[in-house]
Amino acid sequence: MHSTSNDKSIEFLEWKWPQIEPLFKVLSQRSLSDSNIVEWLHEWSDLSKILDESYWRLYDATAIDTNDHEAEENFNQFLDQIRPRAKTAEQKLKEKLLNSGITPDGYEVPLRDMRAQADLFREVNLPLLSEDKKLVVGYDKIIGAQTVLWEGEQVSLPQLLPVYQQPDRERRENAWRLAAKRQLADRELLNDQWVKFLKLRQKIATNADLPDYRAYRWRELLRFDYTPEDCYQFHQAIAKVIVPAAESIYEKRRQRLGVKTLRPWDLDVDPFGKRALKPFSTTEELENKTAQIFRQVDSQLGDYFEIMRTEDLLDLENRVNKAPGGFCSQYMSSKQPFIFMNAVGIHDDVQTLLHEGGHAFHVFECSHLPYFFLDVPFEFAEVASMSMELLASPYLADDRGGFYSLEDAARARIQFLESMLLFWPYMAVVDAFQQWVYENQQAALDTGNCDNRWEQLWELFMPGVNWSGLEEERRTGWQRKQHIFTDPFYYVEYGLAQLGAVQIWRNSFRDQADTVRDYRQALSLGTSVTLPQLYSAAGAKFTFDEITLRQAADLIMENISKMGLDIG
Ligand SMILES: [Zn+2]
Repeated sequence: MHSTSNDKSIEFLEWKWPQIEPLFKVLSQRSLSDSNIVEWLHEWSDLSKILDESYWRLYDATAIDTNDHEAEENFNQFLDQIRPRAKTAEQKLKEKLLNSGITPDGYEVPLRDMRAQADLFREVNLPLLSEDKKLVVGYDKIIGAQTVLWEGEQVSLPQLLPVYQQPDRERRENAWRLAAKRQLADRELLNDQWVKFLKLRQKIATNADLPDYRAYRWRELLRFDYTPEDCYQFHQAIAKVIVPAAESIYEKRRQRLGVKTLRPWDLDVDPFGKRALKPFSTTEELENKTAQIFRQVDSQLGDYFEIMRTEDLLDLENRVNKAPGGFCSQYMSSKQPFIFMNAVGIHDDVQTLLHEGGHAFHVFECSHLPYFFLDVPFEFAEVASMSMELLASPYLADDRGGFYSLEDAARARIQFLESMLLFWPYMAVVDAFQQWVYENQQAALDTGNCDNRWEQLWELFMPGVNWSGLEEERRTGWQRKQHIFTDPFYYVEYGLAQLGAVQIWRNSFRDQADTVRDYRQALSLGTSVTLPQLYSAAGAKFTFDEITLRQAADLIMENISKMGLDIG
C-alpha cells in the first residue's frame, strides 16, 4: 500500500479554497519595496510549492489506483475548485511583481519568463486555446479507437508492438501491414482534423499580433536561446553527420538478419537472433541492482535513491488498475520526488528507471530553491535524465553489481546507443516538417502538400529501409506523429538534450568523479541561470554545430564497435 497518495500527515491536501484564498490576499495587498520583496517572494514560493505538491500527490493517487474513486473525486475537485482560482490569483501576483519594476538579485531569468508570458497573453485567445485542447482530445480519440483483429482477438495497435520483436518475419510483416491498413483508413478523418488545427492556430497567432503560429509558439515555449535558423543548422548537421552513420547501422542490421533489404517490420527484432534480455524477476531485484548502479555513479546519488526506497517514493511494478507509462513527479514542499512506472521484467524497465532516476536527482538537487526556479526548461531537464542513462551504463554487467552477463550488458548498451543515433534523423524530419508547415501555412492547408513534404524529408533523412510498395503508408507518417498535432514544435528539445547528454558522457571517460560533480552542480541551479549557462555548468555546450555532433557520433560509433567485441 502506498502512503504517498493519502498521507494524513500532509495537512494541506485537505485544504479547500476558503483556506487558500486569504493567503493569496495577504500577498496581493502588501505594497512592494526593495526591502520587503525577497521576503514576499519567499512567502509566495511556499504557497506555490504547496499547491504544486497537492496537484502532483492528488494526480499520483489516481495513477497508482485507477479504480480508486475517492482519489479521482479529490483530483477532479482540485482541478475544478482550486486550480483555476489559484492560477488567476497567481497571475495577479505576477502582474504586481512586473509592475513594481523591481528585479531582486538572481531573479532575472524567472522575471524574463514571466514578462514573456504576460506579453503573449490575450483574453480573446482564451476560448481559442480551449478549442485547441478539444481538438487534441479529438485527435487522441481517433488514434485511441484504432484496433485490429489479430489472431482472433481485437487488439489496440500498441499491443502489436511485441510481435515486431519476434523472429518470425512473415508474422511481423502481417502484423505491420494490418496496423498500417487500419491507420490509413483514418486518413481523411485526420486530414480534416489537421485543417481545423491549422486555421485555429493561425487565428491565435494573429490575435497575439504575431506574423505566424511559429512566432507565437516560440515565445510560448520560452525559446530565448535559439531560433528557427539554428534548428535548420541542426537539421543540416544531422543530414551530413548522422544520416550516414544511421545508414551503416541499418546495413549492419540487414547483414545480421540475412535479408535482401531491410523492411519497416525488421527494425525491432534482435539482429543477433538471441532471446530477449531478462534483467530481473522481482521488483525488489530491480530496486536492489539499480541502487548498486547509482551508488557506483556517485555515493550521494546512491543516498538519494536510498531515501526514495525507505520513504516509499517508488511505485515500479505493473499491476491491474494502474495507469500506463512512467514519470517522475516532484513534491516541492516536502522536497521529494516520486517515480511511477510499470515494470514487467524487460530491459526497457531498467532504462526507464535510470532515466526517471535522473529526473528524481534533479528534484533533490534543486529542492533548496524558491518555487520560481523549479520550472526547468525541457531542453535541460532531459539532459539530467538522458545523461544518467549513459553515466550508469558501465555498471549494467553483474561484475559491477548490475543485471547482466558481459555479453548481455553489451547487447543492451549497443541497442541503446544505436537507438540514440537513429533518433536524430527522425527528430529532424519531425522538426523540419513543422518549420515548413508554419512557414507555408496556406500550402499546408492542402494535405497533399503535407504528404509530399513529409516524403521529401523522409527520403533525405531516413535512407536505409526499403519502403517500396508502401508509398502511401510512408507519405502519411506525419499523421501518426502525435506531437505534430498535439504539441506543435515540441520535439527538437529531445534532440538538443541528447547532444548535451552525450557531451557529459564523453567527459566521464576523462574523469568520472569530476563529471558527476559538475552534473550535480548544474542540476542544483534550477532555472536561476539561462539555458546555455546550465549546459556549460554541466560541462557541455548548448550548440547545434556540426563539429559537436560529429564528435558525439564518433564516440557513439566507437563504443558500439568496442562492445560488439563482447558479443559471441
Ligand atoms: Zn524524461
